Amino acid sequence: MNKIVSIQNIANHVGEQVTIQGWLYAKTGKGKIQFLQVRDGTGAMQAVLFAPNLPPEVFEAGKRLTQESALRVQGTVKENERAPGVPGGYEIDAAHLEVVQIAAEYPITPKEHGVEFLLENRHLWIRSRLQWAILRIRATVMRACRDWLDSHGYVEMTTPILTPAAGEGTSTLFEVDYFGDTVYLAQTGQLYNEANIYSFGKVYCFGPTFRAEKSKTRRHMTEFWMLEPEMAYCDLDGLMEMEEQFVSYVVQRCLEERASELRVLERDTSMLEKVMPPFPRVSYDEAVERIEKIRAQTDDPDLKSLLEIEWGQDFGSPHETELTRQYDRPIFVYGFPTEAKAFYMEPWPKRPEVCKSVDMLAPEGYGEITGGSERISDPDLLLKRIHEENLPEKAFGWYLDLRRYGSVPHSGFGLGIERTVAWIAGIHHIRETNPFPRTLGRVYP
Ligand code: ATP
Repeated sequence: MNKIVSIQNIANHVGEQVTIQGWLYAKTGKGKIQFLQVRDGTGAMQAVLFAPNLPPEVFEAGKRLTQESALRVQGTVKENERAPGVPGGYEIDAAHLEVVQIAAEYPITPKEHGVEFLLENRHLWIRSRLQWAILRIRATVMRACRDWLDSHGYVEMTTPILTPAAGEGTSTLFEVDYFGDTVYLAQTGQLYNEANIYSFGKVYCFGPTFRAEKSKTRRHMTEFWMLEPEMAYCDLDGLMEMEEQFVSYVVQRCLEERASELRVLERDTSMLEKVMPPFPRVSYDEAVERIEKIRAQTDDPDLKSLLEIEWGQDFGSPHETELTRQYDRPIFVYGFPTEAKAFYMEPWPKRPEVCKSVDMLAPEGYGEITGGSERISDPDLLLKRIHEENLPEKAFGWYLDLRRYGSVPHSGFGLGIERTVAWIAGIHHIRETNPFPRTLGRVYP
């Protein structure tokens, strides 16, 4: 057998005899010629079966192939600028075909299917070209996040999934029976990372995160992946500087490495090219004023009602969309009301009703992709906040300890992988950015 090559590297093999192995996703042709569209996981390309070039039984076997049949094709790689595929522009002039399996009738056909049907068949849907492109971008986002952090002195830590206390408010906890006790699936690894920084300085954790979100929005899942860096000796300004460097790097890596996939998705990348530091900074107070102004100026009654806001409330997606409309890159909104945020955030000096929190909002209506803050470093203040929020002091004993032994200003944030991928890939609903999404109404397959 000839050398097996990946379709993504096919340009390096023009004129060579090679083998590609994969699956058939479409087939056309008549008479003496068949065009097989083959995907191999790294890309997709056309194989041309021309009857005079093949033993008759092989040509006939090619005609019988069904969608998703598994196959190997041997032949010569040729350039053909009109040949479809990813990257496209190449085809294989087949000299031999090996049928590995003839697939049974495949339920997902090129016609339009409803999204519920597709989600029910997610185990198959991930093979389709758009889903493949989205999930390849996801892998690059995850790799780029790690690469930036690893090369900037951050140490990767693992944090527990089974936790004794809430990290992010008690309304979205998943309870688990732990030999008769109740524990919770992790909503964040942050509190543990606050311990880790006192050993390593700069750390991050990256893993699945669980929130019993009861709202059905296109930005919420019940299980999602969150990347959480945490830094000792870092204040709110330092945090924003780090975040803008980090997110810009991730976007630029996707543009470099996933150009073909972004093309498959017909993503307009001109906006992504502009994602470079510095990102504009807008205070919460200013943001509320701007939203009120937009509300006052609009004649659209629906928008007027969607944009209703009172000082003290967190933003919903309509607010975020309006706020980011005038920008060509992500923005920071900082200084949220203390009552809208978690208990551990450092209060604003001389303004305890505001905390040193910051959200990064992506442009083009994609909304919040990171949420972070400077954390309280004073033990008495932290205890007071735990009491004010009626949290179980005992469960936070170890967390309070961190403020007793060498406490320093420190900050961190969480970046939602699904929301970041949705923005970069230009996908409306974040469920398509996770291979097997978990949402309010779905845990199958
Ligand atoms: P939101 O207000 O949008 O519900 P949040 O303020 O609860 O988000 P954080 O606790 O700051 O979010 O979490 C950090 C990041 O994790 C968010 O910026 C977002 O990217 C992601 N994230 C949070 N909740 C979800 C979810 N249910 N599904 C997917 N991603 C999420």
